[in-house]
Amino acid sequence: MAEVNTPIENKKSLNFIEQIVENDLSEKKNDGRIQTRFPPEPNGYLHIGHAKAICMDFGIAEKYNGVCNLRFDDTNPIKEDVEYVDSIMEDIKWLGFKWGNIYYASDYFQQLWDFAEKLILEDKAYIDEQSAEQIAEQKGTPTSAGTNSPYRNRPTEESLDLFRRMNKGEFEEGSMVLRAKIDMASSNMHFRDPIIYRIIKSPHHRTGNKWNAYPMYDFAHGESDYFEGVTHSICTLEFVVHRPLYDWFIDQLTDNKEGVYRPRQYEFNRLNMTYTVMSKRKLLQLVKEGLVNGWDDPRMPTICGLRRRGYTPESIRGFIDRIGYTKYDGIIDVSLLEHSVREDLNIKAPRVSAVLNPVKLIITNYPENQVEMMEAINNPEDESMGSHEIAFTKELYIERDDFMENPPKKFFRMTPGAEVRLKNAYIVRCTGCKKDEKGEISEIYAEYDPLTKSGMSDSNRKVKGTLHWVSASRSLPAEVRLYDRLFNVENPAEEKDTDFRELLNPGSLTVLTNCRVEEELGKAKAYDHFQFQRIGYFNLDPDSNPEKLIFNRTVSLKDSWSKAQAKA
Ligand code: ATP
Ligand code: MG
Repeated sequence: MAEVNTPIENKKSLNFIEQIVENDLSEKKNDGRIQTRFPPEPNGYLHIGHAKAICMDFGIAEKYNGVCNLRFDDTNPIKEDVEYVDSIMEDIKWLGFKWGNIYYASDYFQQLWDFAEKLILEDKAYIDEQSAEQIAEQKGTPTSAGTNSPYRNRPTEESLDLFRRMNKGEFEEGSMVLRAKIDMASSNMHFRDPIIYRIIKSPHHRTGNKWNAYPMYDFAHGESDYFEGVTHSICTLEFVVHRPLYDWFIDQLTDNKEGVYRPRQYEFNRLNMTYTVMSKRKLLQLVKEGLVNGWDDPRMPTICGLRRRGYTPESIRGFIDRIGYTKYDGIIDVSLLEHSVREDLNIKAPRVSAVLNPVKLIITNYPENQVEMMEAINNPEDESMGSHEIAFTKELYIERDDFMENPPKKFFRMTPGAEVRLKNAYIVRCTGCKKDEKGEISEIYAEYDPLTKSGMSDSNRKVKGTLHWVSASRSLPAEVRLYDRLFNVENPAEEKDTDFRELLNPGSLTVLTNCRVEEELGKAKAYDHFQFQRIGYFNLDPDSNPEKLIFNRTVSLKDSWSKAQAKA
């Protein structure tokens, strides 16, 4: 069993759920057993919000020698699919977590059915033949009681008969539902005779056409926790008001017996992030309507989108660690997530050279066909990452932005008459440029100083600017995809009067097709990370092939988050 006598000082750094778990362990609740679960509905891909729940559910089990199971809450066949089941498993594994067992709420359909019949027989549930609108109208408001359904007191045998026939497929969808008979005047709206079964005539991804009546999520969820022996049922704050109902169901199932084990539910704040939507329904809409290029579009907040964008599991887990768990809702600045991936890639990503918007630079005094292999350090933060070679030739490419013919003061890049250092190579002095008929710079000229190569006598000469470059003949063409925020407004969920699709940022994707990258990148594999020096972190997109290299910008180098922190 886990250490239970944790010193007080240590407790300060525990989150409130860890504190509860440690208390339970010290009181030997549930014989010291810790069992959690992650309960996604397989109706979409996981997003960064789910990662927060995953880190909690799996993290608690890992830390306290417990078990965390994966349970698919698959109670609505209309929206669910094996595609989602598979992607959810892949994403959890990628994040670095292991589940104990895989369960499905659909495995409990028979048990749930039997329980529903028990409720009917005990006059605690009835078949209501009113329409959904009528039922909603009778619900009342939080300050006024609801109205009893005219079917509320129908004979038990009648309800039981209808319930069974409902499942045989004798009735149309929406023609009737099974409701728990609790209290239409309860101050908790969830107690006002909640619907627990409805008719759905679509085949289920696991049970096929076996059932025509399906349990509602609220009926199945708490029961499933109970059937599995979950000790700590951890979820998000919107379920606080559902908790008494889950407890009520378990009371009925166990006939209120004293001392019967029951799962306890604890709630934490869900993750909301600026410039992002987190609702699966909206994310699905973006995918279905082609407003993004699939669930793994690098602009999506999905785990597979972040992976394709170049996020690492460590950067996501580091982010979740930083934001922590509380009992009040808020919204997290997306720049904190960007800060986490920068921090991780700074350690891991080799430095390479890529020119995104190239213009030719000709070193006029450099021998025509000469190629020099220059040493490029892979990571100044980590000597063990070694170095690689980069070819230097007479004709190079530099960034168009790195040259100005008539620069303002403090422009320390390339300009006629001034010296700059070419990274890993020589100091050069710009001698001029050529323009095409439209006045656009077509070539830049410079002379190099052969004594300024690193290690040579003049290599330490002071120059203000250092530029990255690639050789014109010894570099590879590449496409580079730059991503910006998917939404234009800080909190899309708050803009109630505007369709969220109108809030999309039209400039969220820029595709650059004329980029040049150093030859070393020809060896890259899909998802490999790099720092393009002076630009940002990039990874190789899985769409890439040897004829066409494609890179995604994970994040730029500048860090608005740590600057803001420094000011604060
Ligand atoms: P929907 O948006 O359709 O209600 P959901 O996002 O809640 O769905 P589920 O599949 O029910 O999706 O979520 C599985 C688990 O992930 C739940 O325990 C839920 O509380 C948690 N979760 C979902 N979204 C977030 C979020 N933004 N932050 C933290 N946890 C979340
Ligand atoms: Mg949910």
